[in-house]
Amino acid sequence: MHATATGLADAGISHAVLTPADLAARFTGLDLEGTAVGVWEEHAGYADPHRTALGYAAAATRYGATLLEHTPVREITDDGRTVRVVTGDGTRHEVGRLLVAAGPWTGPLLAQIGVTLPLTAERHVVAGLRHAPGDVPFAVPHVLIDIQHGYYSRPAGADRFLLGPLAPTAATDPDDFATAITTAEFDWLAARAAQRTPVRGRATADRSWASLYDVSPDWQPVTGPVSERVYVDAGTSGHGFKLAPVWGEHVARLLLGEPDPRLDQFSPGRFAAGARLASGYGAARILG
Ligand SMILES: Cc1cc2nc3c(=O)[nH]c(=O)nc-3n(C[C@H](O)[C@H](O)[C@H](O)COP(=O)(O)OP(=O)(O)OC[C@H]3O[C@@H](n4cnc5c(N)ncnc54)[C@H](O)[C@@H]3O)c2cc1C
Repeated sequence: MHATATGLADAGISHAVLTPADLAARFTGLDLEGTAVGVWEEHAGYADPHRTALGYAAAATRYGATLLEHTPVREITDDGRTVRVVTGDGTRHEVGRLLVAAGPWTGPLLAQIGVTLPLTAERHVVAGLRHAPGDVPFAVPHVLIDIQHGYYSRPAGADRFLLGPLAPTAATDPDDFATAITTAEFDWLAARAAQRTPVRGRATADRSWASLYDVSPDWQPVTGPVSERVYVDAGTSGHGFKLAPVWGEHVARLLLGEPDPRLDQFSPGRFAAGARLASGYGAARILG
């Protein structure tokens, strides 16, 4: 935690390292049993992922990109001189450079051109809960990452909140996984949240779901060339949303042939070379 705080300081990000006494004075609704240290990041927060994705798409279009929606790529070929992509409607596209950034489906697409990367898909759940009306004034109004109890939370409007686990899960088939949360998964998260924040113990179930992380062996992105004209950007391992604005710039420069040398450490070849990166806090691996 102290190393993270040093990293935040080096990057000029406003934050405070808090002792248990500081935490108790500042966050009166939290049960701080067993807590040794906290970091408060003043300008941290959360965004609406749907609207953010639409915002990126609109901006890309303004800058000249052509978006083909509902048009899956079915086939990729790379004979060393020409890269061809065939979309679901049978259209063939010849491209100068190709970036494969298909999240959990990246591995199977690259396998078509003989590139094998150690990318897997993991199913991760989100539990939604709604406070009893009398408890709304005591709702936690900020993101809370509770490493000790193994979950994260964020508000979802004034009276609701979302919970998700921090630890890895088993690899799954991205085309065949359960999209509903199970009762056991929901109860585990709700109990952990109630332990930290007793007011949450009275909340009731709201819309919940399961979705996919695309995961690399060291839980860091896999970004770089896989052949002369084909590039990959995947394996963001549950923390690619926050990276996206700065990562997008890096990926753009990579494809323009002007890569930042700092991107080398994320190269797809690092696993074969035994150059894995560090990530997470113990089992809480999504915390990049
Ligand atoms: C429940 C959950 C919570 C998360 N919370 C956070 C968080 O708090 N903070 C954070 O930073 N990150 C978070 N993430 C992770 C974040 O969402 C991902 O890291 C990020 O979306 C990865 O972006 P991407 O563009 O690489 O891939 P994706 O967002 O997976 O996009 C890949 C796209 O490729 C498309 N595609 C796939 N196959 C094909 C094909 N054959 N042809 C054409 N298109 C194809 C897909 O439809 C998809 O639109 C969370 C993820 C989940 C599931």
